[in-house]
Amino acid sequence: MFAAIEVEGVVDIHATDVTGVYATLCGLDGDDPTAGQKTVKLPKNPRITCETCLAIIRHAKEYKVR
Ligand SMILES: [Zn+2]
Repeated sequence: MFAAIEVEGVVDIHATDVTGVYATLCGLDGDDPTAGQKTVKLPKNPRITCETCLAIIRHAKEYKVR
């Protein structure tokens, strides 16, 4: 449901990916030292703080799936 990823020292909470290709909905690998990314422990009661993940979720809500 949630993934806490540190990128260059800043931790954001993301939604998890649905395809299994990435760690996050917004396409971070989550564990890529060459990109300065690492997965860290989730806080209690996590809330998504990643603006890109939030934008994707808001966008997806505009569609009705039958
Ligand atoms: Zn994200």
